[in-house]
Amino acid sequence: MTARILVIEDNPANMELMTYLLEAFGHTALRAHNGEEALTVARREEPELIVCDVHLPKLDGYGVVRELKRMAGFQGVPVIAVTALAMVGDREHLLAAGFDGYIAKPIEPETFANQLLSFLGRAPASRAP
Ligand code: MN
Repeated sequence: MTARILVIEDNPANMELMTYLLEAFGHTALRAHNGEEALTVARREEPELIVCDVHLPKLDGYGVVRELKRMAGFQGVPVIAVTALAMVGDREHLLAAGFDGYIAKPIEPETFANQLLSFLGRAPASRAP
């Protein structure tokens, strides 16, 4: 199974890596480079899953997830934080803020796409030929 996945990330190298990996597994990668753009793209494109950096221009990841969870049709769309935050308690902080899950940077290229799909409750996909 493949999914339409919105990647919200302001760092160009991280954006390139994540979208490359998702597309390599056959997913459709939608892109937003700041928090305000993320809300616009989410409304327009109706992604099935959202991957969100925490430190973002204009509106940070906490603001993005707060707004997304208020938007009609988005209550059931998983929003996964991808962040280098490493302090004890950050995971709980992220979940309390509304994120449905958390993947630590640096991401693991071999498992990233399937880690994300686990939040959709789908079977792991194999790499597209
Ligand atoms: Mn960032």
